Amino acid sequence: PQYDFGIMGLGTMGRALLLNMADHGNAVCGWNRDPSKAQAVQEETGGKVGGFSDLGLFVAAIRKPRAIMILVPAGGPTDGVLQGLHPYLDPGDFVIDGGNAHFKDTERRITEMGEFGFGFMGMGVSGGEKGARYGPSMMPGGTPEQYERIRPILESVAAKYDGEPCVALMGARSGGHYVKMVHNGIEYAVMQLIAETYDILHRAQGRGNDDLAQMFGRWNQGELQSFLVEITSIVLAEKDGDKSLVDLISDKAKSKGTGKWTSQDAMDLGMPVPSIDAAVNAREVSGYKGDREAAEKLYGTPLLGNVSDIAEGDLEKALLASMILCYAQGLAQIRAASDEYKYGTDLPTVAKVWRAGCIIRSRELAHIQAAYANRTDLPNLLLDQDYSRRLHDLIPALRKVVVSATAAGIPIPAYAASLNYFDSYRTGRLPANLIQAQRDLFGAHTYERLDKEGSFHTQWE
Ligand code: NDP
Repeated sequence: PQYDFGIMGLGTMGRALLLNMADHGNAVCGWNRDPSKAQAVQEETGGKVGGFSDLGLFVAAIRKPRAIMILVPAGGPTDGVLQGLHPYLDPGDFVIDGGNAHFKDTERRITEMGEFGFGFMGMGVSGGEKGARYGPSMMPGGTPEQYERIRPILESVAAKYDGEPCVALMGARSGGHYVKMVHNGIEYAVMQLIAETYDILHRAQGRGNDDLAQMFGRWNQGELQSFLVEITSIVLAEKDGDKSLVDLISDKAKSKGTGKWTSQDAMDLGMPVPSIDAAVNAREVSGYKGDREAAEKLYGTPLLGNVSDIAEGDLEKALLASMILCYAQGLAQIRAASDEYKYGTDLPTVAKVWRAGCIIRSRELAHIQAAYANRTDLPNLLLDQDYSRRLHDLIPALRKVVVSATAAGIPIPAYAASLNYFDSYRTGRLPANLIQAQRDLFGAHTYERLDKEGSFHTQWE
C-alpha cells in the first residue's frame, strides 16, 4: 500500500478536498463509481493522487489501519457506499463521513460499524467547493483518539485564522454533524436576512443592483464583514448580457434539508430558534410561486407604502443585530444538544472553527468566541455584558426596519422573528400566565403561582 488516506466520492467536494490534501504533501487516493472522475484526478495530478473505480484495489492501496473519508450525498447513497466498503475493511480501520448526514443516521452508523470493529466518525465540512479546495472549516465528532489519527491531515488542509487551523473536535459521536447542521441553520437565517435587506432596498426603494453590489462591498469592509455579505456583492454585480443575472433567476428557493433538520431538532429540544424557523418557512413559501402570483392578482399590488425612512445605515445595523441574534440562537441550541446528547461540545471551540473557511464565517465570530471563552457557562450570548451594550445600540435600527417594512407590506420574516426573539428574551414577564390558566380551564393541566409554592387547579366558573 502506498497511500495514507482515501476519499470515496469524487464529486464537487471530494475532488476538491483530495487535491487540497495532495497539495499539502499527503499521500492520498480517491475512489469514484464512475471511472472517468477517478481517472481525471489521477491525470490532473500527474499520477500523484491515485484514482480508483475498483473498490478492492482502492482499499488495498491504503495503509492499515486505514482511514477513509466518504463524500457522497447524505442518506441512501452514504449507506450504499458503506455497504459496498464493508467486505473490504479490516478491524481497526475507520471511516469518516464528511457529507451532510443527519446526526441520527451518524449515531446509527457508529453502532453498526462498531459491531464489526470498524471506527466511524461523522464530520461536517463547510466552505463549498472553493473551501474544500483551498481551506475548509471542518467539524469532526468522535473520540479524542480517533481525532488524533486524522488531526495532522485535517489541520494541513483546513482554513487558517491567525495561523490557527479551523478544525477541532466538536464533541462525542454525532456531535460534529450536529454542529454542522446548526451551522447550516444559521446559514439559512443569515441568507434570508440578506435577501430581505435586498428586497427593501431594491424592490421597495428602487435601488439598482450595481449600486447595491457596491453597498454590500462597503458593508463587507466594516462590522458586517462576512462571506455571505461578500458573495452578495459579487452576485448583485453579475451580468447576463446587459441585464443583471440576479433579476433573471427564478424566485423559488431550494434546499437539501439541513435547515429544516435544525428547526426540527430545536423543537425536540425545546430550544427556540425562530430566525432559523422563519428562514426555512420563507424558502417553502417561495416555492408556491403559482399561488403567490394568483394571490397577488386577488389582493392587489404587494407594496402598500414606501420605506423611504429606512436609511442604508439602519439596515446595516439591523442586519448586524439580527446576525448576532442568529448566532445566539444557534449556539444556544448547540449547548442544549450537547447537554441532552452528552456531546461535551465546547462553545468557544465551535466559534473558533467557524471564524474562517465556512459559509457563516464573519468578523463577528471572533467577538462571539471571546464572549464564550470569558464565561464558558454563558447560557445565551444576549446575557453577555459586551453584547448587551452592542445590542442596545443596534436594536433601535432593527425595530425601525421591522415597523416600516411591515407597514409597507414587505415580507420580512427573518427580521421580524429575530426582533421578536430579542423582545421575548428580554421580557421578564410574558403573557404565558394566561396560557397556563386556559390550559387549566380546559384540560385541568394545573398551574404554578408566583405568590406560593405548589401546583394548583381551579374550578373555573
Ligand atoms: P456531488 O453531487 O458533486 O458529488 C456526489 C458524489 O457522490 C459523486 O462523486 C457521485 O458519484 C457520488 N455518489 C452519488 N451517489 C452515489 C452512490 N449511490 N454510490 C456511490 N457514489 C455516489 O456532491 P457534493 O460533492 O457537493 O457533496 C458531497 C457531500 O458533501 C454531500 O453530503 C453534501 O451534502 C456535502 N457537502 C456539500 C457541500 C457543497 O458545497 N457542495 C458543502 C458541504 C458539504 P458519480 O460521479 O458516479 O455520480
